[in-house]
Amino acid sequence: MEHVSHYACTLCGAAYEKTSTHLTCPACGEKGILDVIYDYDTMRKQVDAAYFDSCTERSMWRYLPLMSVSGDRAGESLAVGWTPLYDSLRLAGEIDVAKLYLKDDGVNPTGSLKDRASAIAVLKADEEGHRNIACSSTGNAASSLAGNAARLGLEAFIFVPERAPSGKLTQLAAYGAEVISVEGDYKDAFNLSKAAIETFGWYNRNAAINPHMVEGKKTVALEIAEQLAFDVPDYVVVSVGDGCTIGGVYKGFYDLLQLGLIERIPRIVGVQAEGCRPFVDAAACGGELIECEERTLADSIAVGIPRNPKKALRAVRESDGEWVTVTDEEIIQAMQTLGAREGIFAEPAAAASLAGAIRARRDGVIDKAARIAVIVTGNGLKDPDTAKTKLPPPTKLPPDLDALKAHLKHTHDKEDTE
Ligand SMILES: *Cc1c(COP(=O)(O)O)cnc(C)c1O
Ligand SMILES: [Zn+2]
Repeated sequence: MEHVSHYACTLCGAAYEKTSTHLTCPACGEKGILDVIYDYDTMRKQVDAAYFDSCTERSMWRYLPLMSVSGDRAGESLAVGWTPLYDSLRLAGEIDVAKLYLKDDGVNPTGSLKDRASAIAVLKADEEGHRNIACSSTGNAASSLAGNAARLGLEAFIFVPERAPSGKLTQLAAYGAEVISVEGDYKDAFNLSKAAIETFGWYNRNAAINPHMVEGKKTVALEIAEQLAFDVPDYVVVSVGDGCTIGGVYKGFYDLLQLGLIERIPRIVGVQAEGCRPFVDAAACGGELIECEERTLADSIAVGIPRNPKKALRAVRESDGEWVTVTDEEIIQAMQTLGAREGIFAEPAAAASLAGAIRARRDGVIDKAARIAVIVTGNGLKDPDTAKTKLPPPTKLPPDLDALKAHLKHTHDKEDTE
């Protein structure tokens, strides 16, 4: 918080004091999403290469001096962030790029990258004296908020669309949140949560609206840079729903550029599902967002009306990046590849990023010499049912060694199974 200069409206540019608690621009309303602006001159004095060398904190809070919370209770929060970045040699060869790094954010405490936003949300709410915090979500933001709120002793009110996968609902229930399953889709859940937040004065964790969520999510980019000794990749590939995550990825690299720790911002590739691609269409026709249907099995990125369009479109535009779409078949294929080749079980929305990287390479958007980092945003255990029907079932056999031998001879064709 010490290096925050002020807040600026992404729509009209109005500035608000750092002590303001507005979540959106009072002049523009809900669309006036705020940006946290830092004083990089003072930040630079504290945050340099030596700071990172001597920092022993192994969580997202190692970046506290680059964030918009005081963080007095950061030590009490769940262990969010500092997730592994795997150097994937075999997969890099297969998809024909120079380097492929996989950032596995599915290992976060509640199983997704959303923890980076929820952890900062609950601290911010607590610092502003709130005891109740609410959000609407397709699932991961909800379970993440519920877990992180439980840890800090706040009460979470969660609004989910009725199609939310049962694994995610079970997780919410276990974290003791008040869960409202709204008859309708994500839009309906979002609108009811908004009305409730206004009526009851709860703290609002809706990712699109709350400017601090991007500040939490940007830590994924800070980690990728640091884990590569600030020799950042050429491309960073991430799946996009509301657009908060990709906005965070850009902001993280932007901060490091201002601090002089990196020399350029990687080109950011936003991946959407073919059946729900509002950003891809908006980018193709001058930035005008048109509401679209939500037809994809990747439920975490099935967002027909993205709530953070400015920051998402800016991330791709300013980084000279790209938007790509992938089909559900490509997503399932990428899930299998991540699992079988790398031992990473990703949920469909999280595998979409690898599918996007493969597509972008095949289409020549990403070149052969490129070093790319792919962000795996969530754990497959969250929603095994959706993908189950598309993945190969186990082989049924009688308890008989000869039957097993016959089967293995057929599938593995190995002499030692003769
Ligand atoms: C939320 C989410 C995304 C997309 O993030 P947005 O901020 O909505 O764009 C991608 N993957 C997973 C697993 C998610 O939970
Ligand atoms: Zn404004």
